[in-house]
Amino acid sequence: MNHDELRQQLTTLHLELPRQGLVTWTSGNISARAGDGMLIKPSGVTFDDLTPESMVRTDLHGRRLDGALSPSSDAATHGYIYRHLPHVGGIVHTHSPYATAWAANAREIPCVLTAMADEFGGPIPCGAFALIGGEEIGAEVVRVLGHHRSPAIILQNHGVFTIGPSPRAALKAAVMCEDVARTVFLAAQLGNMQPLAQEHIDRLFDRYTTVYGQR
Ligand SMILES: [Zn+2]
Repeated sequence: MNHDELRQQLTTLHLELPRQGLVTWTSGNISARAGDGMLIKPSGVTFDDLTPESMVRTDLHGRRLDGALSPSSDAATHGYIYRHLPHVGGIVHTHSPYATAWAANAREIPCVLTAMADEFGGPIPCGAFALIGGEEIGAEVVRVLGHHRSPAIILQNHGVFTIGPSPRAALKAAVMCEDVARTVFLAAQLGNMQPLAQEHIDRLFDRYTTVYGQR
């Protein structure tokens, strides 16, 4: 996909964030690896106002390469993740409410649903608190997801980062993360959650990643 196509795709994918209830006002962003840099949402622009041209091209340290707008304040985090995880082609960041409620409690989301075993291969891990601005958040995402089957992480007191081979795959993980965060939150209110056995999680994950869907 060339940069123009990527800009168009990123604009379309960003509209899914408010549509799926994952963001409020201008929070949340998506990026795509583009050549030896990346394309990312401009800072502080509402989703309805995004255009393909408004997407900001930066290097993998989050420094703007062209365009008139400043990149998202999370650009350094996205860049750090691309630099350290070469298989990642897209990243999504949200403060989606149910997943972030787990993050506010510094609790991983336990794997109590077959859909979680399918999509995440286990619990959705909770990373340590890190301040916005530098590379601390990116380092925490890489430290945890670098050796985890889950494409999603919640960060303590903050929100969600998801990764994927493409921006669309990362967006799917963000949508599924919020969906299971909500269901497991509701399940927790009933007070008797039943964890899935590791053996069953492994079999579900294997089936989902090798057999499920159209090949
Ligand atoms: Zn954030």
